[in-house]
Amino acid sequence: MGDAVIEIKNLSLSYKSENTTYEALRNINLTINRGEFICIVGSSGCGKSTLLSVLEGLNLPTSGSVKINGQEVTGPGVERAVVFQSYSLFPWMTALENVAFAVRENSRKTTKITKRESFDIARTFLSRVDLTAFEDKLPGELSGGMQQCVAIARAMACNPEILLMDEPFGALDTKIRDNLQGLILKLWGEEEKKKTVVFVTHDLNEAVLLADRIVFMIPKQIYSIVDINLPRPHSHPLVKESPEYKELYQKLLRLFYNDSLELIYDEGANI
Ligand code: ADP
Ligand code: MG
Repeated sequence: MGDAVIEIKNLSLSYKSENTTYEALRNINLTINRGEFICIVGSSGCGKSTLLSVLEGLNLPTSGSVKINGQEVTGPGVERAVVFQSYSLFPWMTALENVAFAVRENSRKTTKITKRESFDIARTFLSRVDLTAFEDKLPGELSGGMQQCVAIARAMACNPEILLMDEPFGALDTKIRDNLQGLILKLWGEEEKKKTVVFVTHDLNEAVLLADRIVFMIPKQIYSIVDINLPRPHSHPLVKESPEYKELYQKLLRLFYNDSLELIYDEGANI
């Protein structure tokens, strides 16, 4: 048994407005261990972002419970950092100031650090994402991929135990996306104490590349959870060409398409 850091028990969530109620999550159960890289996969509208927002503490369960390190989640916390699809940097601050500001804000509730220290930390993390040459640029002067790198550096610089990522590369083109997937694996892998990552994606290949476990969602619910017991990096040709990989990938494809694979083959789709 691993060391549980996130425990979701019988979680249901309904969005309520004046005269309507919409059930977005129904009876979700999931335990995530420290240092695990979890990918949540499912089609648009199935509740992935809602689930992440509950982990973030922005939405509270309608019933059931979510605990982090044994404590019920009642709001956002410094042990969690988030990266979204949109870059969410302050447009009037340089890349360096964006990261340093977040580091200072985050440290207010724990050990307070000086402005100078926050800039040193920010420089270190911008260098880890190869953006040293761009640290004095405003977000508007950076490409989308670079802005997302700054957002990743900002999240990592706050040194959270848990990193919550909601389709962080969804708006980027394939090549930049490949680079950033490599970058996030590098940052995750080289930490002495690996961060626990919950990463939402609707891209199965992205999930196979990144995850220790893939959580498949159908509307409102978890449908299946699959261990990716492969040596890392999962992208290594020796891994990808192994019978274990191929067998696992077939299984994942079937789950991804909810067992409708035969249908797809019948229609001659090329996958
Ligand atoms: P996903 O991230 O998987 O695309 P979401 O978690 O964003 O799905 O949404 C799940 C369902 O909840 C969708 O049907 C969506 O329309 C609905 N929903 C999301 N946010 C709200 C909200 N604030 N109020 C009402 N319904 C919402
Ligand atoms: Mg979403």
